[in-house]
Amino acid sequence: MTTTRRKALFLAATVVLMPPVLLAQPRNYLWGTWVVRCAKGHDDTVTDGTAQHKCEKCGAQVFRNGKVTVVCPNGHPNEVTLHERTESVICNVADCKKECRRKK
Ligand SMILES: [Zn+2]
Ligand SMILES: [Zn+2]
Repeated sequence: MTTTRRKALFLAATVVLMPPVLLAQPRNYLWGTWVVRCAKGHDDTVTDGTAQHKCEKCGAQVFRNGKVTVVCPNGHPNEVTLHERTESVICNVADCKKECRRKK
């Protein structure tokens, strides 16, 4: 009797700690169309929700430790730390300040 109840409680706790939705979806990601730059300076365009991207030229992972370098329409690289659904990054170059997210 007690064992069964403990087992049930344990199972319930496990489900609460690991909701399948969180496991299936990356927590931090870029949303929309972006130009991302790899460590070697290659640019790729990604669309929709992106949390992982391997450079199309050299195969390097563009997303590192929750950070990614996005390129603004004027070609300035901006390293950003992703925070959940990242939909907007303003270029950090003082006389640019353009939205780095691209229009489709
Ligand atoms: Zn590359
Ligand atoms: Zn810029």
